[in-house]
Amino acid sequence: MSAVDIFKVFTIESAHRLPNVPEGHKCARLHGHSFRIELHLRGELGEHTGWVMDFADVKRAFQPIYDRLDHHYLNDIEGLENPTSERLSVWIWEQLKPTLPLLNEVVVHETCTAGSRYRGPAA
Ligand SMILES: [Zn+2]
Repeated sequence: MSAVDIFKVFTIESAHRLPNVPEGHKCARLHGHSFRIELHLRGELGEHTGWVMDFADVKRAFQPIYDRLDHHYLNDIEGLENPTSERLSVWIWEQLKPTLPLLNEVVVHETCTAGSRYRGPAA
């Protein structure tokens, strides 16, 4: 059989500020984003199911993380004291990978034109 990539997209509304930017940088001010989060999974295509994984199971696995992030101030969350998109993608990976072993990539869109992508620690 062949491995196939699937993905599911979530949107969270969250506030943050970046504490380590140079003085006067606009990201030092409290503001919010509609973060668009893509979870990409890679796995074998089930011969009978015709899918890699039930999207409902992806949603279920992500739900506790969604609940921690959505409508929260990200800086208050342990590990996200400096919540850049890059840190957020790594943090989501670390939270999710143990329960979602097929996770292959986390993409965080901070705006329509900017974001980050994390594929796990370099081998
Ligand atoms: Zn921001």
